[in-house]
Amino acid sequence: MIVGILGEGSTDRRVAITPEHISSLAALKAEKILVETNAGLAASCTNEEYTAKGAEVVSRDAVITRSDMVLCINPFLKKELEMLKGKVLIGGFNPLINKDFVADCLETGVSVFSLDVIPRTTRAQAMDILSSMATVSGYKAVLVAATHLPKFFPMFMTAAGTITPAKVLILGAGVAGLQAISTAKRLGAVVEAFDVRTAAKEEVLSLGAKFVDVEGAVEDKAAGGYAVEQSEEFKRKQQAAVQEHAAKSDVVICTAQIPGRKAPVLLLKETIGNMKPGSVVVDLAASTGGNCELTENGKTISVHGVTIIGDSALASGMPGDASKMFGKNILNFLKIMIDKEGKINLNWDDDLITGTCIAHQGEVKNERVKSVMSVNA
Ligand code: NAD
Repeated sequence: MIVGILGEGSTDRRVAITPEHISSLAALKAEKILVETNAGLAASCTNEEYTAKGAEVVSRDAVITRSDMVLCINPFLKKELEMLKGKVLIGGFNPLINKDFVADCLETGVSVFSLDVIPRTTRAQAMDILSSMATVSGYKAVLVAATHLPKFFPMFMTAAGTITPAKVLILGAGVAGLQAISTAKRLGAVVEAFDVRTAAKEEVLSLGAKFVDVEGAVEDKAAGGYAVEQSEEFKRKQQAAVQEHAAKSDVVICTAQIPGRKAPVLLLKETIGNMKPGSVVVDLAASTGGNCELTENGKTISVHGVTIIGDSALASGMPGDASKMFGKNILNFLKIMIDKEGKINLNWDDDLITGTCIAHQGEVKNERVKSVMSVNA
């Protein structure tokens, strides 16, 4: 089996597999490992480092045409997918949103596995790229906020007077939100957080942050640990509570998401108008509409003196460790997909193989992706 690693182009600095993972790939009995020229450069992984670990650095075309299995991060063009007919492609393709890409995969006959829809079970944790990338984004969001904020995060008692600590509000206490809480606490801020899942409360409190309760949230165990759409009444109550807390905050980090849906709008235009000039909003939900009504995806804007940063691609801003984590998740997944002889083994009785498969012989196996595709058929 020949394994190929593609570069991500100029819009993403990460790479799916770093040089330190090459020997682990070889240990899975990959007979050859091909890496696209300069695939890892933006993540500080040189061609020479890949070669030194035993990989062959070749053109993008050569990776696509010679490999039996291709590893990457983002979706790519249909004309390249066509060259992968009958082969296996693994990455993180956001299939609940990128429906055209799923349709292309089905049409071109590639077997595609997207690790961002892996079932949220204990066994899947080591392969969960969403958690890994959310960890990076949550951390980075706080650092970005700190560099834009015109004041310190920690409290200081100096000869020039006492500096009060920054107040940070985190919307959504999933993986990114919890990492943002830890990072902001480490920097000395006073932190509070909101979430609609009751399980999040204990986690927020255990990190030393305050949990802001809004009664009446709906939960659904069948949603696999994810949040679900809330009632209009709850949304109004929540927006009012967010308004009250945001007005007292220096920084708001927005991480609230519902898989495959538009992000909930929690910070209204009026709320931004009530925030202190100089405050910073970092909206990680920007690519799905944003938690802030004024967020512009991929842009940093200033409204009434409040800086609003719309960035859902913060993991790409820390490409070294983000790539290491991504690569380790893929390697753990390959351990269940490659047999002892080094052959690809698609065991459809394995919920992690079925649960990540977004295209195989023209069929979607993942149930959530299947229902999204049938709605749009
Ligand atoms: P996510 O990225 O889908 O959403 C981020 C957070 O936003 C979630 O905590 C969600 O509850 C919250 N949210 C959604 N709507 C909201 C609203 N209107 N107001 C406030 N908050 C709102 O979530 P995630 O980070 O991927 O994690 C979701 C859950 O899955 C967590 O419990 C996490 O611990 C769990 N998880 C389990 C595994 C596993 O078992 N393999 C792996 C990763 C995460």
